[in-house]
Amino acid sequence: MTHPSFETLLDAARAAHGRHPALHRFCAFPDDVTATPVTPHHIPAADLMARDPLLQTPNLPPLARAFVAAGPHATWRETYRNTGIGDDFLARFGCYCLIGPGGAYQSAQMHAFVVYMPPGLCYPRHHHPGEEMYFVLAGSAEFHRDGAAPEILSPGQGVIHASNQPHATETLDRPLLAYVIWRSHLGTPPVLTMPAPPARD
Ligand code: FE
Repeated sequence: MTHPSFETLLDAARAAHGRHPALHRFCAFPDDVTATPVTPHHIPAADLMARDPLLQTPNLPPLARAFVAAGPHATWRETYRNTGIGDDFLARFGCYCLIGPGGAYQSAQMHAFVVYMPPGLCYPRHHHPGEEMYFVLAGSAEFHRDGAAPEILSPGQGVIHASNQPHATETLDRPLLAYVIWRSHLGTPPVLTMPAPPARD
């Protein structure tokens, strides 16, 4: 049975697509969503999110509140385990899926995740064929995309990562809570982008 916190979360995500044209323009909320069982999996970043003072404040948007409330029941992802990304990242980067692998819901049209980063953390350059939007729910971060100037985004602002466009995200003095959606190539996970090899003479 689907935990009630995921039902609240799914409704909040659907409402956010109705309220924010940027989200809706990037991807209409899917009409093929089905529920699947979730086996909760905890990682240290889940506790960091649960205890983050910014996320305890009363005037968070409903979608942010719903992601925090469902956190204890979620399958937190470990996408970058054994990639050499470093212990600090593994200890502090948080992500779980709402719609898609490990999530409480499945869809062939869109995947949806939450990303939580505490202050002073860098999610290094990575890429994936899936077209992606980060939409800031709380806090802020600096978003880097190959071919574009870095941008610091605040709640209500989003950024689109094109297919296979390398991108990185860095929190400064504030945490980040972001709603992340993919609208294509849903089955291919992200990989770290290796630095370009040195030019040969
Ligand atoms: Fe990405």
